Amino acid sequence: MQIPLAAPDIREADRAAVLEVLDSGALSLGPKLPEFEQAVARVSRSRYAVAVNSGTSALHLCVKAAGIRDGDEVITSPFSFVASANCVLFERAKPVFVDIDPVTYNIDASRIEAAITPRTKAILPVHVFGRPCALDDITYIAQKRGLTIIEDACEAIGAKYHNAPVGTSGQTGVFAFYPNKQLTTGEGGVIVTDDLSIANQCRSWRNQGRADSDGWLEHDTLGYNYRLSDINCALGITQLARLDEVILARAQVAEFYDEAMREIPEVIAPRPSEPDAMISWFVYVVRLTDEFNRADRDRVIAALKRQGIGARNYFPPIHLQPLYQRMFGYCAGAFPITEHIADRTIALPFFNHLTQGEVETVCLSLRNAIHSLGGKTRVARQPLAARA
Ligand SMILES: *Cc1c(COP(=O)(O)O)cnc(C)c1O
Repeated sequence: MQIPLAAPDIREADRAAVLEVLDSGALSLGPKLPEFEQAVARVSRSRYAVAVNSGTSALHLCVKAAGIRDGDEVITSPFSFVASANCVLFERAKPVFVDIDPVTYNIDASRIEAAITPRTKAILPVHVFGRPCALDDITYIAQKRGLTIIEDACEAIGAKYHNAPVGTSGQTGVFAFYPNKQLTTGEGGVIVTDDLSIANQCRSWRNQGRADSDGWLEHDTLGYNYRLSDINCALGITQLARLDEVILARAQVAEFYDEAMREIPEVIAPRPSEPDAMISWFVYVVRLTDEFNRADRDRVIAALKRQGIGARNYFPPIHLQPLYQRMFGYCAGAFPITEHIADRTIALPFFNHLTQGEVETVCLSLRNAIHSLGGKTRVARQPLAARA
């Protein structure tokens, strides 16, 4: 038996769209690029969308577009995929981490103001696992303190906050389309913005710094090759057409898990959406209760893998990645809530067509793996609430 962690949902319409591009000869900078961009702009209710070759490239261009440079500071979450902080390093600026909310796992907005310094230029909130951040609080702080917001919505396409799609609360927002995401283009990312000059600037940067008016060998500024091919864009168009269906299918899988988790008291399941928000489920991440430690969690993941069940420690804290320890001298204890949670989280198999039977198989294996840890590893620890 094999149940992978993630699986792209590729259907006949996707195959046909990709083949059509291959047959057309227009493999890059063809008609599928603006068509995909317009579709993303439509679903995110943004004025402009700029497609690039990854979510990471998209974040990089947003950081550049915000004018972030050497020595500037950007406030973000240490509990995220590494790209959301690396994009700040690309411009020799400093990611300043703020600890997370232990319930939502998103940046704790109530701690942001204390982290602002005269060098702070932007806040980069991440909608972790597809759950919207407290955007009201974040935009209030950003407006009051004159900071730019760059929304990392890479895990959250289709998620809503006060009925509005995420990705649109600030200057720019980013969606990503790697094969483990809700929708995929193989590789890909999209910047959304309501600012025409930012959209044009990003279009130029993604295409070697060419301005629209320039010839092919005229380069206005230092640019990159961050182009997304029409093959990828065609896939994006057919995938995006199914967004509502995909969101519903994933919410259904999350419900199957929620139900099964009621039988496993050693596990804390994800909370339902906050009342003012709607989750677009990216992954289903559970957390072992406080009496377990990181070694227990790693043993559970290893046991699941031995049975052919994909599982992973989403996310190891960014500040404890070797690069960040080396560059900034971070040690364990710097962001205690993030570390407490990151020590105990397990991402379980999660994709559109995962069946209820497969979910039950995963949960049975999870339960057995936890029980086989035995009583002796279960050291009594101070609960998180007492430490926060
Ligand atoms: C997936 C993801 C990205 C972008 O990843 P790419 O692989 O570069 O597309 C950025 N931030 C977060 C939080 C992500 O999950």
